[in-house]
Amino acid sequence: MFGFLRRLAAGSRIMKVRHMIGLETRTSKGRPPVDSTKRDAQDVELFAQHVKPLGGRLPRDIVSPEVWAQGYGRIIEWADALIASARRHCPGLPHIHFDFVFNESINAQAFKKEGRYFVALYTGTRYMLELVFFKMLSDARLFPFVPSAAEEGSRPAPFSYSVRAEEMYRAGIRPVRPKSQDRWAYATQLLHRAFLFLIGHEIAHITLGHVDLLADRHAGALPEVGWNLPTEEDVLERQAMEADADRRSVISAMASAKLAHEAPIPDRPRWVDSRRSVTDLIFDWSFAMNCVFRIFGDVDVLEPELGRVSHLPGPMRRFMASVDAATYVGEVWKPAEAKATVWKALRHGILYTELAFMTLMNQERSGKGVIHAFSRSGREYATRVGAYSHNTLARKLEPFAFEATIS
Ligand SMILES: [Zn+2]
Repeated sequence: MFGFLRRLAAGSRIMKVRHMIGLETRTSKGRPPVDSTKRDAQDVELFAQHVKPLGGRLPRDIVSPEVWAQGYGRIIEWADALIASARRHCPGLPHIHFDFVFNESINAQAFKKEGRYFVALYTGTRYMLELVFFKMLSDARLFPFVPSAAEEGSRPAPFSYSVRAEEMYRAGIRPVRPKSQDRWAYATQLLHRAFLFLIGHEIAHITLGHVDLLADRHAGALPEVGWNLPTEEDVLERQAMEADADRRSVISAMASAKLAHEAPIPDRPRWVDSRRSVTDLIFDWSFAMNCVFRIFGDVDVLEPELGRVSHLPGPMRRFMASVDAATYVGEVWKPAEAKATVWKALRHGILYTELAFMTLMNQERSGKGVIHAFSRSGREYATRVGAYSHNTLARKLEPFAFEATIS
């Protein structure tokens, strides 16, 4: 089972990041609270200009201040804390402005404008993740280990899910929070992990030099969706950037999980606070990370197409991120749990994602892409992307990166 993990990690410099883990997300204790309504005026202006053709910057007066603080404001706090942590660990990394694009599709991008750096999250991404996690925790058939499933009531009607967030939003489908306090808290924690993975990935496009390398060649924006690249090398380079940004985000997440595992439990813990075992933390992260990709649908991975699609298909990224997590836990975290136990928790997260989507949609099959990604050809392709990153991309990025590429 672990032969392929060793091969994928062969030549890996993951060990070298032991002392530059970074981006850990301790609780905000001791840090001044972030006021998500106050932003640098020039950053706001530049951001608004850049995203104007995409739908514009999300207006702050769209909801009341209380509702803002519970939703978008909280995500801005998570992002700002992650950016502050990245800056502590990458000396010389300038400020990064995080903000929302008012666009109901699922997307995000990192970009540079007039020498300043930005991460933009489309409002559709928030809508879709919140909708999916709230639906799952409102369904008593799912997550039986989270207390009070019975409070969620009778079996819901099948969920008419579409990967097009804008269509679902216009059809009037809105996230409704789970009734039980524990199940709502767990859904919120999954959302937190999912957003940190996604935002961490975007920050990594900046810290690893991807945005600057592309700014040197093109316009300097890295949207997550909607790319067409001319040559096979361009495709491989773009795929390697995606895999590297994922790996950076995985390392941050696993470093945070380690800190959470070691942190004392609060005096009056909620159920969700007591969920600190190594396998629970890894499963929760794995599930959230897998859902970030699964919201794009049960994407197929066909071997001949892998070298042509500009973006690595979601199932390949789920597979590679899981391998990266297993490697980090085994090489750096080194918990008492056996490697096989850690891998089982990661795999459980992958499979439970498929089960959860199948249950919501009342389907009998799911996961065709994941099966392909885990096949021999999927593993070989992952090795090829890793080798390109290590042997070629790392050198190209050297003049632009704020931290070493971790391929
Ligand atoms: Zn990306």
